Amino acid sequence: MLRGDSREDLAYAAGLIRRGELVGIPTETVYGLGANGLDEVAVDRIYEAKGRPKDNPFILHIAEPKEMESICHSIPERAWLLAERYWPGPLTMILPVKDCVPKRTVAGLDTVGVRCPAHEATRTLIRLSGVPIAAPSANLSGKPSTTTAQHVLHDMDGRIAAIIDGGPSEVGVESTIIDLTAEVPRLLRPGGITPEELVALLGELEVDPAVLGELPPDAIARAPGMKYIHYSPRAEVIIVDGSDEEAAAYIRKHIRPEDAVLCFQEELPLYEGCNPTAYGSRADNRSLSAGLFSALRDLDKPEIQTIYARCPQGGGIAYAVGNRLKKAAGFHIVDPREEA
Ligand code: AMP
Ligand code: MG
Repeated sequence: MLRGDSREDLAYAAGLIRRGELVGIPTETVYGLGANGLDEVAVDRIYEAKGRPKDNPFILHIAEPKEMESICHSIPERAWLLAERYWPGPLTMILPVKDCVPKRTVAGLDTVGVRCPAHEATRTLIRLSGVPIAAPSANLSGKPSTTTAQHVLHDMDGRIAAIIDGGPSEVGVESTIIDLTAEVPRLLRPGGITPEELVALLGELEVDPAVLGELPPDAIARAPGMKYIHYSPRAEVIIVDGSDEEAAAYIRKHIRPEDAVLCFQEELPLYEGCNPTAYGSRADNRSLSAGLFSALRDLDKPEIQTIYARCPQGGGIAYAVGNRLKKAAGFHIVDPREEA
């Protein structure tokens, strides 16, 4: 375990990256599993350590916005506009990729996801490494993302060379992904930068169908990661809609001793005796995004069979939280009013 606030530790980690090793890295979204993005052998190791399907590409992380030019071509004006406003920050742009990036990194696509993260430790690491760092979330494939160094250790112990501890991830859900290769910019994954903010800056934004619901099995996902089961603890997750009281009545009627409840802090009194976990306050959507994955990981225990979950409504970061929770639930949502 290395310290994110130690220059010496970061220099050591940069040496590991240059030698093709894997390093767990802190970012403001979630922790990443970093490797030299220009070294296909190193990149292959990420797929192995995560157990990730090989057609699911990685995001390349850069220390300065202008470094986009070293890995992307045909960069449109709106990419620079977005970079100026939101980088460093939780926004990934899909752009045409240059030949210097190995096919492995982009899973054979002719585009690449590029992001300048806001965490200073990781920006320093990228600078000291001298290469863009390829990094997916540092969880085992399919599991909830990692938002602390301890989560990374739990999933990756023995599989990677080092972990940089940079404290808990502030945003807590992965970056917003926007595809800028189409005529109209397209939202592929909601995240810390909200759709409302993107529309305000760009004037237009399409939302990929994969964000809204389950993809039909024959659809080719624009963001390949979208077609996989994601963020899931081993228990079945069921989202229960409705008011606090309607949901509580439904859950109390169906819950068994081997089940659990994932709810808002304000709802805890409604679930006494039902094994409730609060992931944040409904009055503060940022607390929900920061707490979601950690709570899902806490509930990832063999003895828990079904998790009844409460999901925030509405836009902003709540939209991203809802998206992750719905994916964890495989879009299994019940409306208690239909049963009444
Ligand atoms: P993760 O690294 O686990 O946060 O996942 C990164 C996600 O970024 C992938 O699952 C893809 O959905 C998306 N992504 C990365 N590169 C591309 C690309 N070139 N085109 C579309 N989506 C991409
Ligand atoms: Mg991931």
